[in-house]
Amino acid sequence: MKPFYDQQGGAPTLIHQDQQNGASNGSELKDGTFQTSTTIGNKTYVIGGADSETLSIDVRIFDKCLGEWVNPTVLGTKPLSCEGHSVVLLKDRIIVLKKNPKPDDHTWFLEVDTQYVRRQKKKLGTEVVAWSKGVIGNVEKPVVISGPSGVGKGTLISKLMKEFPSMFGFSVSHTTRAARGMEKDGVHYHFSEKSIMEKEIKDGKFLEFASVHGNLYGTSVEAVEMVSDAGKRCILDIDVQGARSVRASSLEAIFIFICPPTMEELERRLRKRGTETEEQVLKRLRNAQAEIEQGKSSGIFDFILYNDKLAECYDSLKKLLGLDGYVTPPPNPAAREFNLPMDYSVCKLDDRIIIYDNSLELENIIMLDVSSLEGGAPGRTRGLDFIRMEQLHIQ
Ligand code: ADP
Ligand code: 5GP
Repeated sequence: MKPFYDQQGGAPTLIHQDQQNGASNGSELKDGTFQTSTTIGNKTYVIGGADSETLSIDVRIFDKCLGEWVNPTVLGTKPLSCEGHSVVLLKDRIIVLKKNPKPDDHTWFLEVDTQYVRRQKKKLGTEVVAWSKGVIGNVEKPVVISGPSGVGKGTLISKLMKEFPSMFGFSVSHTTRAARGMEKDGVHYHFSEKSIMEKEIKDGKFLEFASVHGNLYGTSVEAVEMVSDAGKRCILDIDVQGARSVRASSLEAIFIFICPPTMEELERRLRKRGTETEEQVLKRLRNAQAEIEQGKSSGIFDFILYNDKLAECYDSLKKLLGLDGYVTPPPNPAAREFNLPMDYSVCKLDDRIIIYDNSLELENIIMLDVSSLEGGAPGRTRGLDFIRMEQLHIQ
């Protein structure tokens, strides 16, 4: 045990150096708070206690080079504090396993040196860590659909969602444009004030955003995660700039660009829809040419579809999503939950974490396989695989 002193000048805070092979089961301090420490190079990440305002688990860093405490910028939704937790160090992130009986809220990741964290450090010029909630299993890659206004994106997406309601979910974007007649807040868009949306963008709540036809549009991290949490494949209807940002993010997706058969037909469709003023129609048509050029040549898109005859284009879309002749299985939300013992310790074996009941009940030994993780901050970390020892047939 090695004492360090808090920079705020308060009572001495002890850093318990109980890390073994990258795992630590933490310790309760004299003041009743619980903490773990994980040392990576010159930095010790102390995780524990509760932020008095948010009641979430606190993170502080002791920098051995500077000989002082650093309060990092903490991004992402934070886990609520609990009775205790264990930590295991992976390459660029720390797994935090909460002592919490809730079957869908025990596994969290504190990212300390992932690509996302490194980018944010550069952008903000401060020490940064990012929380990401761990989720069991995987969902199919989200589908990003782009194309000029009036080409038929919404029509194709509606058909897909109608035919496969339990399979697809729509990422509801935020926009500062006014709602059209039939549009509902929270269903078609989250209609937002510009100043509020700008503040939320600054707070890192958006996966991507762009100024399109004079208004601000953006996809919140929550919009995509809510669809994935429901076990559905997420569909994003966003412009080319947004697609480029998603390409550069940690979200792995399939990118599809929809082209009109001709510019004349695009104009006919836009006018026939009758949802824009003449000025807005002209603006959208002016932007369409550049969007089509970028869509075809930027290398962002995996597939380009021409929406000439709607039925044919829809069939092509289904084909490239592997849905021709598909029978939709019922969703199974229970498969995404797992009960941990009430009191446990952890140790690390390669890409596996062994979680054992402190009462040493053999049937309560669990293996957590983290070899196939996907996603991560600013969204969830998917691909957790919990296996009970009894399922492994180990006596
Ligand atoms: P977007 O979402 O790309 O802006 P919409 O889905 O709103 O475009 O389609 C614009 C208009 O074109 C709508 O009135 C729609 O019914 C019509 N439309 C869509 N696809 C076709 C098509 N293949 N042939 C003719 N009209 C179409
Ligand atoms: P509309 O105003 O017709 O609903 O949408 C105009 C354009 O904004 C469309 O090209 C649509 O794809 C794009 N768009 C809608 N939501 C988003 C979003 O969240 N992000 C970005 N980048 N573009 C969006």
